[in-house]
Amino acid sequence: MKYFSLNQQAPAVSFQEATILGQAPDKGLYFPERIPQVNKSLIDALQTTSNEEIAFQVIHPYVGNEIPDELLYTIVQETVNFPIPLVPVTDQIAALELFHGPTLAFKDIGARFMSRCLGYFVGQQQRKEKVVVLVATSGDTGGAVANGFYDVEGVEVVILYPSGKVSSVQEQQLTTLGKNIQALEINGTFDDCQQLVKQAFSDQSLTDRLFLTSANSINVARWLPQQFYYFFALKQWQDQEHPPVISVPSGNFGNICAGLLACKSGLPVSHFIAACNANDVVPRYMQTQQYETMKAVPTISNAMDVGNPSNFVRILELFHQNFPELQQKFTSVSISDQETKATLKRVYEQQHYLLDPHGAVGYLALERYLNEHPQERGIVLETAHPVKFYDVVEPVTGDPVPLPDALSHIMKLPKLATKMDPSYEALRSFLLKMK
Ligand SMILES: *Cc1c(COP(=O)(O)O)cnc(C)c1O
Repeated sequence: MKYFSLNQQAPAVSFQEATILGQAPDKGLYFPERIPQVNKSLIDALQTTSNEEIAFQVIHPYVGNEIPDELLYTIVQETVNFPIPLVPVTDQIAALELFHGPTLAFKDIGARFMSRCLGYFVGQQQRKEKVVVLVATSGDTGGAVANGFYDVEGVEVVILYPSGKVSSVQEQQLTTLGKNIQALEINGTFDDCQQLVKQAFSDQSLTDRLFLTSANSINVARWLPQQFYYFFALKQWQDQEHPPVISVPSGNFGNICAGLLACKSGLPVSHFIAACNANDVVPRYMQTQQYETMKAVPTISNAMDVGNPSNFVRILELFHQNFPELQQKFTSVSISDQETKATLKRVYEQQHYLLDPHGAVGYLALERYLNEHPQERGIVLETAHPVKFYDVVEPVTGDPVPLPDALSHIMKLPKLATKMDPSYEALRSFLLKMK
C-alpha cells in the first residue's frame, strides 16, 4: 500500500516511510491510496473470530509485505491483549470500554502498535544515529507513548510535559518507567512544550546528529489500528439486523476517522456522532460549511481541547469532499461542561454506570440523537477510565473512584523527571548529551 500526502505536494511513500516520517514533507497528512474492503466472510464471522485474528485481517492490507506476516501477527496480538468489553448501560445504549489497557485510555492501542512497527523498521535500517522519539503531551498521549515504547530496542523516548498542568495519575504514568523513557518537566505550558519540539525538528544541526521522529497522533501507524475496536464493537453487538449508531468523544478526530474508515471498508455502522466539548470547530462546520479554527478553550474533558482538529481533512477525503455524502453518515455536536457533569451524575445515579468526562460528552450526544431517531440503538466509546479524571468525577458523584491495582502500584513509584525551563538551548544540549 502506498500513502499520498493530502497536500499533494510530496511523493507517495510506503507504510514504513509514512510511519518513520509521521507527516509528509509538504506538511500534509498521509492517506492510503485506496480503501481496502474487508472480506464479507470476516464480517459474518466476527462473533467467532478472535480479536487478534480480526485485527490482523483489518491491518494487513495497509502494511502489505513490509512487515513479515508472522511478526505483524505478534504485533497485533500485543496491541490488543487486554479486554475491550461492550457493556450495556440502558436498553438503547452500550459503552465500549477502551480503557483497560496499561495507561487506561484508548490511545494505548495506537501507541502500542506504532511503537512496535517503528522498533522493527529502525532495527532493519541499521542507522548510525540513535533514534529519538520526541513528543510533547498535555496528558494522555505521553503516558500511552511512554508505555508503548518502553524497552523497545534502539529507540529512546523523550517526553516534554508542562509542570503542574497534567493530572497526578498522568504524571506518574509518564515519569516512573525509566529505561529508555525520559521525561522533561517543562516549567511552562503545553504550547511551550510543543514549540520546543517543533524547534528541535527544524534544527538541522541537531537532526544531522540524531534521528528524530515524532509519535504524533497523525502518524498512520497510530491512526489505522484504531479501526480494530470498531470491529470488536460489532462483534459484541447482538442485533445483527440493525447496525448501531456510534458516538465518539472527539478532539483531533483521529479515533472517529478510523471508525469511518472501517465503515468505508465494509463494517456495518448506521451513523457516526462526533461528540465535542466547547471546542466546536467541526459542529459549527456541519451547520455552516465554514471551517474556522479557534484557540483551544480549556474544559473538563481536556483531551478534547483542540482548536484545529488535524484529522478532519482525512474525514473530508474519505467522503470525497462531498458534503451531502458526509452529512448522511456523520453528525457532530458540542456539549458544555455543565451538561457533561449533569450527564455524569445522572447516569451514575440512575444506571449505576460511571462515565469519565469524555465518555459523558459522548453519552449525551448519543442520547440526543436517539431521541430524534427512536428506532435506533447505539454505542458510546468510553475513551478513558474515570479514575484518570477523579478530580472532576469525585465532586460530581460524591463518591471516591477506587484505583485499579495497576495504577495504585504506579502511584507509589518514585518520579523520574528532569526539570527544565522552556529554553531551546537547554533542550538541545540535553538531546545531544544522550548520544
Ligand atoms: C485523545 C482523547 C480523545 C480524543 O481523541 P481524538 O482521536 O483526538 O479525537 C478523547 N478522549 C480521551 C480520553 C482522549 O485521551
